[in-house]
Amino acid sequence: MHLFDVGEPIRDRAAPDGEIETRWERRRFGARLVNPANRRKLTVIVVGTGLAGGSAAATLAEAGYRVRSYCYQDSPRRAHSIAAQGGINAAKNYRNDGDSIYRLFYDTVKGGDFRARESNVYRLAQLSVNIVDQCVAQGVPFAREYGGLLDNRSFGGAQVSRTFYARGQTGQQLLLGAYQAMERQIAAGNIEMNARHEMLELIVVDGRARGIVVRDLVTGSVSAEFADAVVLASGGYGNVFFLSTNAKGCNVTATWRAHRKGALFANPCFTQIHPTCIPESGTHQSKLTLMSESLRNDGRVWVPSRASDSRQPADIPEDERDYYLERIYPSFGNLVPRDIASRAAKHVCDEGRGVGPGGLGVYLDFADAIRRLGRGAVEAKYGNLFEMYQRITGEDPYVVPMRIYPAVHYTMGGLWVDYDLQSTIPGLFVIGEANFSDHGANRLGASALMQGLADGYFVLPNTISNYLAAGPFPDISDRAEVARARQAVVDRLDRLLSVDGDRTVDSFHRELGHVMWEYCGMERTEEGLTKAIGLIRGLHDEFWQRVKVPGTGEQLNQNLEKAGRVADFFELAELICIDALHRRESAGGHFRAESQTPDGEALRHDDEFGYVAAWEFTGDRPVLHSEDLTFEYVHPSTRSYK
Ligand SMILES: Cc1cc2nc3c(=O)[nH]c(=O)nc-3n(C[C@H](O)[C@H](O)[C@H](O)COP(=O)(O)OP(=O)(O)OC[C@H]3O[C@@H](n4cnc5c(N)ncnc54)[C@H](O)[C@@H]3O)c2cc1C
Repeated sequence: MHLFDVGEPIRDRAAPDGEIETRWERRRFGARLVNPANRRKLTVIVVGTGLAGGSAAATLAEAGYRVRSYCYQDSPRRAHSIAAQGGINAAKNYRNDGDSIYRLFYDTVKGGDFRARESNVYRLAQLSVNIVDQCVAQGVPFAREYGGLLDNRSFGGAQVSRTFYARGQTGQQLLLGAYQAMERQIAAGNIEMNARHEMLELIVVDGRARGIVVRDLVTGSVSAEFADAVVLASGGYGNVFFLSTNAKGCNVTATWRAHRKGALFANPCFTQIHPTCIPESGTHQSKLTLMSESLRNDGRVWVPSRASDSRQPADIPEDERDYYLERIYPSFGNLVPRDIASRAAKHVCDEGRGVGPGGLGVYLDFADAIRRLGRGAVEAKYGNLFEMYQRITGEDPYVVPMRIYPAVHYTMGGLWVDYDLQSTIPGLFVIGEANFSDHGANRLGASALMQGLADGYFVLPNTISNYLAAGPFPDISDRAEVARARQAVVDRLDRLLSVDGDRTVDSFHRELGHVMWEYCGMERTEEGLTKAIGLIRGLHDEFWQRVKVPGTGEQLNQNLEKAGRVADFFELAELICIDALHRRESAGGHFRAESQTPDGEALRHDDEFGYVAAWEFTGDRPVLHSEDLTFEYVHPSTRSYK
């Protein structure tokens, strides 16, 4: 099958070279500035109010720009970031356990399986220390030790404790900080907040991103909104798999619409499967629940040593248990990175040693920790997670081990951006999980919040000025491109409503997710991916013939909202599979069965695939532009956690 064409390589023209320690400082110094009086004349649209968008909007408004913020929830503080549980990394070295900016940089490049840019990752590690200071100053109630210092715990892929946390609600507390900073600016009139508005198109005029087309989700009215620059902070696309740990609303529409308008989409196949989720309980489930990685600090992962052992966990003696992560990876033990822990869980289940219904589960056991620390200490650290587990499963994890299984959790892929976080469309910036980011082929735990806040509080506010210094740009409200973009949205909504078929949007989404999980999930093969592309195309055609969207467009219509998002998921799913098929190597979360070491670990092919795959939308076959990755500091090696 001729699935894609190969185009010209792409280069990050904004990336500075020289000593890595001073690259960010030099880039900031080289960037043009906008004087405070002129900032009032410049407008920036920010789509998304999660940690990335919320922090960016607050900071830009604080700096004096006029900001217009959009989200589809009824309040900015309901963004999916609120679900983040375990923590946020920062190289503060409060524990004096050998941490440093360089070590966080090293761990992240290695953890990402050498598929991220060194310059970006180094900047992220540098900024990590500022983020924690910023959040503490805002009043974020991080956990503290007895003496009053901020407490830390460990996350996967690190041998130091650098994860700052607020019980199991770190995302919520951080988001309240960003949200309050936003609210202050809303009250001051510097941010115009548009909740319950969904961006359905990007407006590009004279080659620049100049606005968006939005639908008011309450009244159904469709309008074109303008700015001098547009920032997408619209989150990740894990819900293409239908079942994931993401909030149900998470979708790809904002970034996919920009992709169709010319923004390259990078590494779409790099999706993260998280090892510790509550296993699926039935075919009618619509969402999976994460049990934070922080639990692996104290919980021990095990399965029975022999297959088909149906005894209760308490009846299985110690010498008949296999603490397989501790056995296979003695140096990192239960804290190996997510891709490794997920695959190991799959292997033991494939061997028939899985536990619980269908044998798709492994134990996460706190008995040792409770014996060692006491129930009170475990409750203080993880109480809300234990409670959540008990409510969902009806089992008490203080008494019986949790059962967990891998599930889709995060997407490392996203819109391609340069060092300035600018996409291939001038004036379109992309931050947070929506960009292809700094995590390479596998994100380390507690690094998404770090990246989203680094982007929003520190990187974007500096780099966007370099672009805005050329503004304000001419009025475009009567340009034909604007009318065309708005009309395209209206036509698409009409088309979705007029199919009037006999299948629900959810039934299509569920089936698409099943195909993705089966053939493009934890293990991928050439045969499976080829089959998936055929199935996705068939299902996509059927969608446009048989989907049933009740109601009208002139009212609150959540079926219509979902239909548009699922239509975009179909197009994205095909690109994910093409990307996964073309990358004939294993790297991080992308495990190609044909490319593994004799002991079943991921086998990269740096000579052939040491690049970022940035895809161009053509309407026909996608075009691959590759950005070569060079490593001057952390040299690619076989990633070992043994
Ligand atoms: C259960 C769970 C736990 C996690 N725990 C951790 C953790 O402990 N540590 C960590 O580092 N990471 C964690 N993560 C990952 C992390 O939470 C996310 O990567 C991060 O919060 C994403 O932030 P964001 O600002 O990029 O996007 P989001 O928080 O997803 O926000 C997206 C915003 O965009 C808006 N939006 C999207 N599309 C449109 C549109 N078309 N029109 C208008 N608005 C739109 C939404 O309304 C929303 O406001 C966790 C993830 C999950 C699922």
